Amino acid sequence: MEKDLVKLKCKNLLEVALITPKGYENSLLLQNLDNLPSTGVVQAKILSHHRTPKTLQIGAFLPSFNTPLKITIFYPKKYHTSLFPIDSTLYLQGKIQKQFELEMIQPKVIKHFGEITPIFEKRKGVNLLELTRSLITEQNLLQTPLPREYIPHILPIFHPTLPFYRQYTYYKTFPPSSLKSLKFIEVFLYLQSLQKKKRNFEAKCICQGEVEGFISSLPFPLTQGQRNAIEQIRKDLSSSIASRRLIMGDVGSGKTIVILCSVLLAYPHKSILMAPTTILATQLYEEAQKFLPSFVRVGLFLGDRESKKQSYQDFDFIIGTQALIHRDDSLDDFALVMSDEQHRFGTQQRFFLEKLASKEGKKPHILQFSATPIPRTMAMLQSDLISHTFIKDTPFVKDITTQILYKQDFPSLLAHIKKELEQDHQVIIVYPLVEESESFAYTSLKEGEGYWRKHFEGVYCTNGGDKDKDKVLQEFREKGKILLATTLIEVGISLPRLSTIVIVGAERMGLATLHQLRGRVSRNGLKGYCFLFTYSHNNQRLKDFTQTKNGFEIAELDLKYRKGGDLLEGERQSGDEFRFFDPSSDLEILENAKEVLTQTKNAQKQDIM
Ligand code: ADP
Ligand code: MG
Repeated sequence: MEKDLVKLKCKNLLEVALITPKGYENSLLLQNLDNLPSTGVVQAKILSHHRTPKTLQIGAFLPSFNTPLKITIFYPKKYHTSLFPIDSTLYLQGKIQKQFELEMIQPKVIKHFGEITPIFEKRKGVNLLELTRSLITEQNLLQTPLPREYIPHILPIFHPTLPFYRQYTYYKTFPPSSLKSLKFIEVFLYLQSLQKKKRNFEAKCICQGEVEGFISSLPFPLTQGQRNAIEQIRKDLSSSIASRRLIMGDVGSGKTIVILCSVLLAYPHKSILMAPTTILATQLYEEAQKFLPSFVRVGLFLGDRESKKQSYQDFDFIIGTQALIHRDDSLDDFALVMSDEQHRFGTQQRFFLEKLASKEGKKPHILQFSATPIPRTMAMLQSDLISHTFIKDTPFVKDITTQILYKQDFPSLLAHIKKELEQDHQVIIVYPLVEESESFAYTSLKEGEGYWRKHFEGVYCTNGGDKDKDKVLQEFREKGKILLATTLIEVGISLPRLSTIVIVGAERMGLATLHQLRGRVSRNGLKGYCFLFTYSHNNQRLKDFTQTKNGFEIAELDLKYRKGGDLLEGERQSGDEFRFFDPSSDLEILENAKEVLTQTKNAQKQDIM
């Protein structure tokens, strides 16, 4: 068996089970001629040959059905005459049909018949049919961790029976029970490989900081979600194994306070926090200054000249942008590495900081914060590499009305905007494109800018890429009325007066992005509005979006619709690596696989003892 596995480049038998046939060849003798046209094998006696310019017509007789058969060969070659010798009895495979008479066109003459044979993709030098047949047997499968109930649904894939073949032709793929078994195997192997990858590193520091005093000094009580998160982080940081946790909570769920609590839990060891933009880093710095006790020395490190003069040595808690990666200060005495809005960073950037903070094979504790929840299946798939915390509540109940708007609704949108501005509220309009484009129906940021500037005061504009973007945002926050922007605005700065967001071409965006954008408004309990402006009528995805504000439901929806392909948001984690398993619908199979994996592991442990 080992040798065969090597030939197949498989590590174990279950991997072999995933080398599925791409189809089946049916050489069973046809039992009747009731359902024509029908494909199969018949026994025929050859009676006559007749040449026409382009065909060879062969007269034959089917003894089992006591009926004549006409065989047609197009563009016959010489050998065809000898392939169908007169008076011989042959087994012919192909499609039998009846128009005026029973006929077969270009049938194959076969020697072996009476079976259904799997057809595989060709692999050089490997006979997949033989190898899979000899390996995938009940006896062998019983030796694998595959739960027994799946075995009868895997076997016929490689040893097809007639009922199986009928189902296969009916479904045009493997029947549901076999598919389910394949999904199980696929996700089981995936989890198993992750588990092998997982390595527990020793933590650089065991942290046992005190946080209760700080919590009771806050001007507000923490939400249950914040408390749970802090408790889990407390356990993480006090462990001798380096932890890695992703904390997900909607915009406004109060993640900053959780970050600050983590700093205190790590204290007197040092912490570092990376944020995706200067403005966000500055905002986090201000909040840290405002809330943290004065003995915690907080430093802000941006890419500017001032920051270059500072040294990590003088601080207990460092906040900065990607510029942090490019400094050569030592991170030796940093116990905790955090990133806010982690989905905005590439994996590379995050790992880099983590590596800088590692020392002699020991690692810092890692906390990542994100406003984009991942669906439960995704969390469970990754759970061996990273732990997850969901903050499900927000301190303020957000009252946001979400509405789809079409072209004819523009006048009422204008009226709404005027009314909001009169109440000193602010409005953001998000455009899908910066520059005008011929192939694109929607107004671009540049085109829109002219209109709004002409009719309104206090209009600010940023494409998210410009150098003075932070300055624009800063000024808008203080004295602006309307901000025109692209989706890059999504980064979590706080705009307490923002009541309305208009998203142009909303159907082009991923639901996670829409949710992020919507999360900008109503941060402090202000009545909020999110308008999805679209030319796409009856868009079910957008309709579903208006019906929920729950970030977790949205993550599930996103996964469901992602299959259809999001235009602007393609490269986030998705279940692409699976052929059978579908993260948007197969939670139960995943749970089962996880359970079986745990059992397998425990059984192995017992074996060793
Ligand atoms: P996000 O999760 O989006 O990062 P923030 O941490 O910025 O949210 O919090 C949003 C606002 O809510 C801030 O003004 C913060 O001070 C406030 N806040 C946080 N936690 C609470 C709480 N438990 N009760 C009341 N307000 C809170
Ligand atoms: Mg935040």
